[in-house]
Amino acid sequence: MTKIGLEIHCQLTKLESKLFCSCKADYRSLDINTNICPVCIGLPGSLPLLNKNAVEKAAMISIALGCKTPPKIAFFRKNYFYPDLPKNFQITQYNAYGPTSIGSDGKVLIEDKEIRVRRIQLEEDPGRLVYEGTSEKTLLTLIDYNRAGTPLVEIVTEPDFETPKQVRLFLNVLADLVENLGVSDPSLEGALRVDGNISIDKGNRVEIKNVGSFKDIEKALHFEITRQQSLAERGIPIPAETRHWDEARKITVSARSKEEEQDYRYFLEADIPWVLIDSSVIDKLKKNMPESIYSKKERYIKKYGIPLQVAEVLSSDKFYSDLFEQAHNEKNAKEIANIITTDLKGFADTKEQREQLKLTPKHLADLADAIMNNIITRNSGKLALQEIVKSGKPLSEIISSLDLGHVDDKSSLSKIIDDVFSEEEKAVSEAKLNPDTINYLVGKVMRKTKGKADPALTLDIIKKKLDSK
Ligand code: ZN
Ligand code: MN
Repeated sequence: MTKIGLEIHCQLTKLESKLFCSCKADYRSLDINTNICPVCIGLPGSLPLLNKNAVEKAAMISIALGCKTPPKIAFFRKNYFYPDLPKNFQITQYNAYGPTSIGSDGKVLIEDKEIRVRRIQLEEDPGRLVYEGTSEKTLLTLIDYNRAGTPLVEIVTEPDFETPKQVRLFLNVLADLVENLGVSDPSLEGALRVDGNISIDKGNRVEIKNVGSFKDIEKALHFEITRQQSLAERGIPIPAETRHWDEARKITVSARSKEEEQDYRYFLEADIPWVLIDSSVIDKLKKNMPESIYSKKERYIKKYGIPLQVAEVLSSDKFYSDLFEQAHNEKNAKEIANIITTDLKGFADTKEQREQLKLTPKHLADLADAIMNNIITRNSGKLALQEIVKSGKPLSEIISSLDLGHVDDKSSLSKIIDDVFSEEEKAVSEAKLNPDTINYLVGKVMRKTKGKADPALTLDIIKKKLDSK
């Protein structure tokens, strides 16, 4: 049986400052080694000062993943010698004296499968190593400490995953969840990083590190299953080790024998006092936390009758659900949900597209109302939306400049249908014999009116004309 457990590092990208100093948490656009101070590069004598907001945000993740939060949390030193860590230890959390990390014993349901969360800990990110060539064969490694000390939440699951696909689904849910909580932007490079532990048939555990994306972790796990199975079939033991994912070759390569927890010589970080987390603090956080994705979905279905699949897309994407919340009212909710999840989707897939979008919630409300009041057809609505996202002009202006107004007066529609009939004599006689082919004629009318003809009225007139022929 395949057993997979995950260690996910999630940066709290929405914070102003690092975990133990006032350097910026957002290090991404800064010049190399400029976002540093004695604390985050671990100069002797410097003292860490814990960022209260980071504790709160980590507690929110812990609550959202159904974890227990202890009344007192502590920080530990995890000792290891590596150039990305200037102090030679990382300040993290560890449950040496009972649970003292920010969360433990949670669970998440993924397609009826329960994934247990063993532990959630708040810790500092190390610096970033830049290799010339690959990490195995490099002659030159450069270090940028701008990232050192950035607040990270590490989420450790039990080995409850049985397939790489379950892993991918879980990670998607997790990314939506931290985004919805407003604690992290998973689309930023390096904001969510995943290590996987995998073993087959009671064999040794192999850790996969350095996986850059969610898609790659699925591939890396598939590769490991095949590799371990082929070793097992030939009776070759599978060594316990850490392997790196080689993105270019799409294989895992042996990196080093795996450290055991005792190798890290954890001990209490005496420079940071224990932090009391009163139950009233947790209650207050719970009260002020954004509505969960699950509860949003239920509300959309129950209150507005939005279909399950549409509600799922809408609730799991913070960008869409924020738009929806600002645009909708009792009457147009369903129509707006529809426009967002079908028509808008193509224009707002990527982060870049979303940033350039000129669309406001008012546009969406106007658009839904115009469609519901038969001022424009749904088809014209799509054309209008295409223009809105680019120009941001008001809908009324777009309707008149693109001439999108509905053709719903009988006499002009009747004239257009007569034209179609005379051009399509063969189709007309066919439609008389076989009513299933009428749609072809409706399509012709739509094309002639550039999608502006009222579909129901068009069908009605065509039928009457066919009957009288
Ligand atoms: Zn600093
Ligand atoms: Mn960690």
